[in-house]
Amino acid sequence: MTGKAPTNVLIVGVGGQGVIMVSKVLAILCQRHGHEVKQSEVHGMAKRGGAVFSHVRFGEKVWSPTIPEGEADILVALEWAEGLRWINYLRPTGTFIADCQKIVPPFACRNRGRGAEASYAPQTPEEIIEQVHAGYAIDAMGMAANLGNDKAANTVLLGALSTGLDFPVEDWLEVIRQMVPPASVEINERAFVMGRDWALAGTKRIDETAAGLHRVRDGVRHGPVATKVEIVEDWCKGCDICVKMCPERCLRLNDRLIAELALPDLCTGCRLCEWLCPDFAIAITNTPVAEPAE
Ligand code: SF4
Ligand code: SF4
Repeated sequence: MTGKAPTNVLIVGVGGQGVIMVSKVLAILCQRHGHEVKQSEVHGMAKRGGAVFSHVRFGEKVWSPTIPEGEADILVALEWAEGLRWINYLRPTGTFIADCQKIVPPFACRNRGRGAEASYAPQTPEEIIEQVHAGYAIDAMGMAANLGNDKAANTVLLGALSTGLDFPVEDWLEVIRQMVPPASVEINERAFVMGRDWALAGTKRIDETAAGLHRVRDGVRHGPVATKVEIVEDWCKGCDICVKMCPERCLRLNDRLIAELALPDLCTGCRLCEWLCPDFAIAITNTPVAEPAE
């Protein structure tokens, strides 16, 4: 990927996944190799699953920071459905690299039942990888979790990305070491090598674990769950958003103007309150429980 036309790499995902870290590693690396680099990014709602994307363009001369539709040389998706959302930006000769993990927003629930089925992009990794020139459906999150830190999934993807660009491995690792917390340098180095080695094994690859995550074509069936609602009183400023937005009307403000769960039996564990609280004061934990006997 040399010559006068810039190389275009589009990185997409949802808030909290590390899209910006991937983008910065690439941009710094390109600068160190003497390229002109333009980077533009849109931050979604960090920690809330909002869409986040970053365009990185580099070459001898780059005029615009934005990649036109159909001109991305490489699309890196940290979340499967976000990858599909942007796939039109990929050139016909481009490379698609996507973590197969699904992050299903609570708004995707099809009904208000406890553990309700949620809508999700129905295309399977097999269908998508078949239609692109080169593609990788990788279980980056699973690989990183096996190394002991699922947050290193973005570094697994950097490893896969490195196979499509002409920079030495040691230069990638040097930038990564500077970008990650000192305590996680070793895991991130291993994550990079793992993603790189996995991608080097072919130009169209589907991780078997990742494919398994998508076998249910019509959505995500969560099954019955037990829900725990935790509200950190010190962080709640009594804004009333969760109370107003809870679909089941099971929250209220107490006499100290702190949110509390007034009707726990009605709570479906939909997580809307957790996602909408501006102060991160609510945490919902849904633990699968056995299906009731017929
Ligand atoms: S949205 Fe958050 S800060 Fe506002 S009342 Fe609910 S818990 Fe408190
Ligand atoms: S309390 Fe939160 S998780 Fe429970 S139903 Fe209301 S919005 Fe959903």
